[in-house]
Amino acid sequence: MTDCIFCQIIKKEIPAQIIYEDEKIIAFKDIQPKAQTHLLLMPKQHFSSLAEASQPEILGQLLWQTKELAHKLGLAKNGYKIIINTGKEAGQAVFHLHLHLLSGDDLKEFNI
Ligand code: 5GP
Ligand code: ZN
Repeated sequence: MTDCIFCQIIKKEIPAQIIYEDEKIIAFKDIQPKAQTHLLLMPKQHFSSLAEASQPEILGQLLWQTKELAHKLGLAKNGYKIIINTGKEAGQAVFHLHLHLLSGDDLKEFNI
């Protein structure tokens, strides 16, 4: 989608600190980190939210690459948290399905 900021990052039209990418998935640093490590992972294909995702495989790939990346970055040792805000009322601000990967020593504030 041309007016989607994450699609623009995926197309390299605007910069981001990209940590991982393959054919289907991209991961980059959140511009306003809420933890020591705060990455956003998402499908390159545009779905406006988790509720709009129409392909089970891509959700599997998203979660799998999150686990792989967390392992590669050494996050599993201290633990990490993943969050998918779905819908405005749940705090979603960017309407391109994405997962927050958070790790570091200040995660308690995110507890439910
Ligand atoms: P949401 O609230 O939609 O789940 O999360 C959107 C996240 O995207 C926020 O944590 C916000 O800081 C991040 N974000 C918004 N715009 C940009 C941007 O242009 N670049 C990057 N790297 N992150 C962004
Ligand atoms: Zn998009």
